Amino acid sequence: MSIIKGAQVAEAVSAETKKRAEKLKAEGTEPCLAIIRVGEDGSEIAYERGAMKRMDKCGIKCVSVVLDKNISQAEFEKKFVEVNDDKNVHGILLLQPLPKQLDIEPIKELINPIKDVDALSAVNLYKVFVGDKTGYAPCTAEAVMETLDYMGTDYTGKKCVVIGRSLVVGKPLGMLLLGRNATVTYCHSRTKQLAEEAKQADILVAAVGVPKMVKADFVKEGMTVIDVGINVDENGNMCGDVDFENVEPIVENITPVPGGVGAVTTSVLAKHVVMAAEMLK
Ligand code: NAP
Repeated sequence: MSIIKGAQVAEAVSAETKKRAEKLKAEGTEPCLAIIRVGEDGSEIAYERGAMKRMDKCGIKCVSVVLDKNISQAEFEKKFVEVNDDKNVHGILLLQPLPKQLDIEPIKELINPIKDVDALSAVNLYKVFVGDKTGYAPCTAEAVMETLDYMGTDYTGKKCVVIGRSLVVGKPLGMLLLGRNATVTYCHSRTKQLAEEAKQADILVAAVGVPKMVKADFVKEGMTVIDVGINVDENGNMCGDVDFENVEPIVENITPVPGGVGAVTTSVLAKHVVMAAEMLK
C-alpha cells in the first residue's frame, strides 16, 4: 500500500523544467508567465502564490496582472490582448472563476494558442483529442498523468474509470489515458450504479467536487486511486472527493488531499511555460 506524495512528483517534473529554463536563458530568452486575476478572491490569490513560488523554483519569471473586480467586458478584453501581445510573455494563466459580468468565451478565441498554457482554447483541446504533442492539456489533467507516470504505470489495456466529465479535468484526462492505450470509462452525475462502475477500475480517478464521495464500496484491492477533488469538509478542512480514511486501507496506491495532485498542477504549468518559450523564442 502506498500513498503518493504530490511534492515528490512535482520535484521530478520541475527538475527537468529548470534545466530547460536555464538553457533558454543562456540563449537570451527569459521564460515568463503572466497570471491574470480579476478581483481579490482568496482561493485565487492562494493559487497565484503557489504558482509564483513554483515558477521561481523553476527559474521562470512570473508577472501578476490584477484587474478590478468591476471591470467591463470591453476593458477586460483590451487588457487581455495587451498581455497576449506582449513579446516578453510566453504563457498566460487566467484565474477562474471570473466575476459574473465577464464572459470567458471571447478570451478562448483571443488567446494565442502557444501562450495558452492551461488549455482554454479549442486549438489546445483539439490537440489533446488527436494526441498532438505540440499543444497543452489542461494542467490538472496532465498532473494526473504525471503522477501516474511517476508511479511507473503501464497503461496498456488497463481499465481506467474517470468520475467527472468537465472540460478542465475529466474529459481531457480520459483522452490522455486513451492515448496511452488504457480502456476508459467516463462516469458522471447521471451514471447508474456508480459504485459498481468504479469498482471495475484498475485506475480510478475522482474529479467530481463532492467531498468524500468515493467510499469503500467503490474500490477493491490492487486499485490505484487518484483524487483530484479540492473541497472543504464539515469541519472546514480541505478534503478530496475520496473518503481517504476508509479507502486507503483497501487500495494499492492512493493520492492524498491536500498534498496530492494539487501539488503537481503548478509544476505542469511551469513545464508548459518553458514549452511556450521554446516555441516563441
Ligand atoms: P465540475 O466542472 O463541477 O465537474 C464535476 C463533474 O463531476 C461533472 O462532470 C459532474 O457530472 C460530476 N459529478 C458531480 N456530482 C456527481 C455525483 N454525485 N456523482 C457522479 N458524478 C458527479 O468540476 P471540475 O472543475 O472538473 O473539478 C472537479 C474537482 O476537482 C473539484 O473538486 C475541483 O475543486 C477539483 N479541481 C482540482 C484541481 C487541482 O489542481 N487539483 C484543478 C481543478 C479542479 P455532470 O457532468 O453530469 O454534471
